[in-house]
Amino acid sequence: MKAALFRGPGDLEVIDVETPSAGPGELKIRVESCATCGTDAKIFGHGHPRLEPPQIIGHEIAGEIIEIGTATSGYEIGDRVQIIAAVPCEECWACKAVKQGVCINQTSMGYQYAGGFAEEMIVPASVLKAKGVNKIPGNLSFDEASVTEPLACVLNAQRLIHVGEGDTVLVMGAGPIGCLHVRLARALGAKKVMLADINGGRLHLSANVVKPDRAIDMSSEDLATVVLEETDGIGPSVVITAAPSGQAQEQAIAMAAPGGRVSFFGGLPKDKPLITVDSNVVHYKELILAGANGSSPEQNAEALALIASGAVPVADLITHRLPLSQVEDAINAVTSGEAIKVVIKPQGV
Ligand SMILES: [Zn+2]
Ligand SMILES: [Zn+2]
Repeated sequence: MKAALFRGPGDLEVIDVETPSAGPGELKIRVESCATCGTDAKIFGHGHPRLEPPQIIGHEIAGEIIEIGTATSGYEIGDRVQIIAAVPCEECWACKAVKQGVCINQTSMGYQYAGGFAEEMIVPASVLKAKGVNKIPGNLSFDEASVTEPLACVLNAQRLIHVGEGDTVLVMGAGPIGCLHVRLARALGAKKVMLADINGGRLHLSANVVKPDRAIDMSSEDLATVVLEETDGIGPSVVITAAPSGQAQEQAIAMAAPGGRVSFFGGLPKDKPLITVDSNVVHYKELILAGANGSSPEQNAEALALIASGAVPVADLITHRLPLSQVEDAINAVTSGEAIKVVIKPQGV
C-alpha cells in the first residue's frame, strides 16, 4: 500500500510499504480521511521529540473497519470510525485521576504507531483499551469526522478555563484551531467572540467562514486598542492564543480583563520557549493561566457529538481535499494560510 513516510525534518515521501494486518486486540481500517494540522507542519519542519523516524505520520483519522483481529470485540466490518490521536495508558496516576490529557505514559498515532497518511492503518490495542474508537453518526462524512480530534483538543482547552455563558472571548490566530475556538466558544454560550491574526489573508479567509463578531487584522490595526473598544474598556474575559507566538502570549496576559482566563493553546517553537511577563499583572488582575495539550478519549467522543448535532459545524472549514501523493502540499497550504483545513484522501479525491 501507499503511505507517507517521515524520515526526518524536510523528508516526507509517499512510498510503497508492506500492507499491515490486524493482530490480536487490534482493528484495521481503510483510511478515508486524515486531516492535516500545524503539528504535522511542526513535525515536517523540525521533527518531534517523541517521534522516532521513520514513521507514517497523520493523526486526525477517520475510516472504515476492514479487518478485526482475534480477541477484539464490539466492532464490525464496515463500521465507520474516528480514531483518537493521543493514547492514554489508563494505568498511571493521571489517567486514574481522569486527567488522560496529561497521561505520563502517553503514546500517539503517527508517533509511536503508524498514522493515517496511508491507505490502510492498524488501530493498536492500546487505542481500543482507552475507548479511542468512536463510531461516526450516519449524518457525518469521513471528512467532518476527521476534524473531531482537533475539536477535542479545543474543547479540552476551553473546559480548563471554563468558557461559558456571557464570556467575551479573544482568539489570537485564525488558523483551523482558531476557527474551531471561535465556533466552540459560541456553542458554549460566549456573548462576543473576536478573532485576530497578523496574517491579513488568513484572517480574511477564516473570518468569512466563522464570522466572528469582530475580526482584527493585526497587520493594520492595533490589537490592544480595538479589543478595549470592543469590551467597553474592560478587556476580554477569555483570551486564547492559537498561534506559536510568544508575543501573542505576552499580549494575552496584558489584555485580559481583571479576573480573566488565558489559555496558551499553541505551543512555542522549541528554540524560542521563553516569554517575558509582568508577573504583577497576573497578580493584581487575578488572572488564571492554563496550558492545553491534547485531549482525552472522552473529549473526542464529545467533540464528535458536537459536530454531529450541528453545535460546531466543521464542513465549511475544509477548504481543500488532496490525494495522499500531495501530502507535502497540504502541509504547506496550512502553514501559509491559504487553506483552513486540508483533508488527505488516501483512497483518492
Ligand atoms: Zn492535529
Ligand atoms: Zn496514563
